[in-house]
Amino acid sequence: MKRWSNRELKKYIDRYAHEFGEALAIRVYTSQLLGQDPDLVLHGGGNTSVKASFVTLMGESIPAVFVKGSGWDMATTGPDGFVPLDLNALEKLRKLDQLEDTAMFDQLRLAMLHPFPFNPSIEALAHAWIGKAYVDHTHANAILTLTNQENGEDIVKEALGDDVIIRPYIHPGFYLSKDLADALDTSPNIRGIVLMHHGLFTFDDDPRVSYETHLELVARARQYIDKKASRSFFTVEFEKAPDSAITRVAPIVRGALAERAKDPNRPFRPVILQILRDEETLRMIGHPDSRRILEGSVLTADFLIRTKPWMAWIESPELNDMETLSRQIEETVLDFAERYRIYYDQGVQRTGRDFPMFNPRPRILVIPGLGVFCSGTTLKEATITADLSRVTLKVKRDIVAMGATYRGIDEDKLFEMEYWGPQLAKLAKITNALLAGRIAVITGAAGAIGSAICKRLLEEGCVVVGTDLAGERLSALEADLTGRFGENFWALPMDVTDETSVRKAFEAINLRYGGVDILISNAGIAFVKPLDELEIEDFQRVQRVNVEGALLFLKWGIKVLKAQGTGGDVVHISTKNVPSPGASFGAYSATKAAAHQLARVASLELAPFGIRVNNLAPDAVFKGEGRKSGLWEVCGPERMKARGLDEQGLEEYYKNRNLLKIQVRADHVANGVVFFVTRQTPTTGATLPIDGGLPDATPR
Ligand code: ZN
Repeated sequence: MKRWSNRELKKYIDRYAHEFGEALAIRVYTSQLLGQDPDLVLHGGGNTSVKASFVTLMGESIPAVFVKGSGWDMATTGPDGFVPLDLNALEKLRKLDQLEDTAMFDQLRLAMLHPFPFNPSIEALAHAWIGKAYVDHTHANAILTLTNQENGEDIVKEALGDDVIIRPYIHPGFYLSKDLADALDTSPNIRGIVLMHHGLFTFDDDPRVSYETHLELVARARQYIDKKASRSFFTVEFEKAPDSAITRVAPIVRGALAERAKDPNRPFRPVILQILRDEETLRMIGHPDSRRILEGSVLTADFLIRTKPWMAWIESPELNDMETLSRQIEETVLDFAERYRIYYDQGVQRTGRDFPMFNPRPRILVIPGLGVFCSGTTLKEATITADLSRVTLKVKRDIVAMGATYRGIDEDKLFEMEYWGPQLAKLAKITNALLAGRIAVITGAAGAIGSAICKRLLEEGCVVVGTDLAGERLSALEADLTGRFGENFWALPMDVTDETSVRKAFEAINLRYGGVDILISNAGIAFVKPLDELEIEDFQRVQRVNVEGALLFLKWGIKVLKAQGTGGDVVHISTKNVPSPGASFGAYSATKAAAHQLARVASLELAPFGIRVNNLAPDAVFKGEGRKSGLWEVCGPERMKARGLDEQGLEEYYKNRNLLKIQVRADHVANGVVFFVTRQTPTTGATLPIDGGLPDATPR
C-alpha cells in the first residue's frame, strides 16, 4: 500500500492546480495512489470524487462535485477524467422516490458542467450525497473476503469494529446512493461504509484522512483474515505440467470457447486466451474439493460481464491422453453453455429484458494440473478476465482458510446484473472491429511489405505476431509497433528455414495467446543471376527461404488451426513473377512459383476445415512504413544497371509499365491481405494481382 507523501503531492499541485484548482489536483493524487494498488482497485473498479467550485467562462462560481468518469482507470487518470456535476441539481434528485438507470444517466448528463463525451461513474449520486469534500470508494479484496461469507455482516463488524456501518447488497445506481445517504444521516460520525458483496466507502473533508482511513480499514480487514486463516486446506502436492502440455491443450480450449455465429462467412468469433498457471493458482485448483469451493458465483457485480456467473471446471482431466482430454473439454464447455442458456431463458422470462444472449460458452475454463484458461474478445479483455479470476480464486481460498463458507450474491440476482443497460453500453464500447479476437502470424515481418501488413492488421483489431530473423530490423519494428499498438503486437524471432525454430514459435504463440487464426506467409529473398551463371548453392539458399520456409510455416500453422477447429485464413504473398517471370530472376521466379503452388494445394486440403487460402501477387514494391524492401536492396542495383536508370528512374519505370500508371506500395498489399482475411467474398485458392494492371502477367 502506498503511503501519503507531501513531496509527491506537491508535484501534482505544481502540475495541475493552476489550471484545475488545488482540490482536484489533490484528488488526482490520491485517486492514483488507490488505483495503483492491485489489492484495492482492478481495471476501472472503484471511483473517487471531490466537491469544489466550478468556475464558468463568465466567471460564475458553481458548487460542484467532480466524479471520476465511467471507464477511467484510477491508476492513471488525470484531472480530465473527472466529470464536474452541478451539486445543487443532484441534491434535488434525492427527493425522488424512484429513478431508473436510464433516467438517472439522463439527469447526470444534464447536470454536467462540461460536455464530456463520457458519463460520470454509476455511483455519482452516492458521491454527491455523501456530505464530505473527499469520497473514496474501492472494491478492495480484503473487504470482499469479509463480506462474501456466511454471516458476513457479523464478520465485518468483528473485524472493523464500530467505526463503519454495513449496508446490504443493492445494485449500484439511485437506490444504492439513497440508501447510503440515508444511513449516513442517522450515523453522521461514522468513518466508513461497507457494502456487502461490493466494497468500501470512506470520506472526509480532509483528503488525507479519507485516504488513510481507507487504507487503515482495509489493513484491519487483512489482519483479521490473516489471524483467522490456517491455510492448511490448499497444501496439496502437485506436479506442474510442462509447457509442452499447455501448448497442445491451449488451441483445443481456444477452439471450444470461440463463439458460434450464424454468418456462414464468419461462423466463429474467436477469443484470446490468457492462462494462469503459476504455482499458487495450480495449488488452489488442485485439491479434490477445489471445484466445490471455488467454481460458483462471482465476487461482485462488475466482474460478471468478464467472468460469467461461474467458471467451467474439468473435474478429473485425463492429462496423459490428449484424445480423452479433448472430449472432456468439449463436453464441459457444452454442458456449461446449456446451463447458461437455461439461466438466460429463465432470466428473460423473469425480467422481460430481451437483450440478445452473450456467447453462452464459458469465459474461464479450469483444468486442474494445467491451469486456469481465461478468455476475452480482445487481448485486453482476456487480461482483465485473468486478473479477475486470480482475485476471485484468492478471495475464495482465503475464506476457506478462515474456516468460513463462501457466500456470493444470490444466483437469481445475477442475470439482472449481467444483462443490464449501463453494463452492456460498457461492453459495446470494447470493440466491434472485424478482426477482434483474431491472432495473426506473419513471416518476414520486418520488411517493407511485412511491416505494412502488421500495421494494417493491428488497425483492424487483430493481435499480430510479427516473426523474422532476430536482429536490428525486428527490434526496430517492435519498438515502432508496440509504441503504437501496445501488447497487441509481439515481435517473435523465428527462422523459417529451421523447422525447430518454426515449431517452437507456434508453441510460444499458443502459450501466450492460445493459438492463431491468420497465417501470412511473406518471407522471401531474391537472387539475380542468369541461369548459366547460377550456382546451385545460391539457388538452394533462395529455395530454402522461399519454398521450404513457406512450407514449414504452413505445416506448423495448419496444425494449430486444425486443433482449434474454428477455420482460419492463410494468405501467401506471391509475386507477379509467377505468371510473368523476369530474366536473370530464375531462382526467385521458380521458387516463388513453387510456393504459390503449395498455397493452391493448401486451399484444396484445407477447405473442408473452413480454412481459406489465397495468394497475393504484387509487382515491385520499393518501400513501405519507412523501410526499404529487402528484396529491392538485393536486386534494385542490378535492375538499375541493366536498364541504365537511377533509383528514382527505376521507380518511374515500374510505375509506367502498368495500365493504371500507379506505383505499387506496401500498404496496397496490406489492404489485399485485409480483403481476404475479413472475408469480403467467398473466395479460396485465388490469386489477387496487385500490380496496377500488367497485361503480360495474365495467364496464357
Ligand atoms: Zn462500486
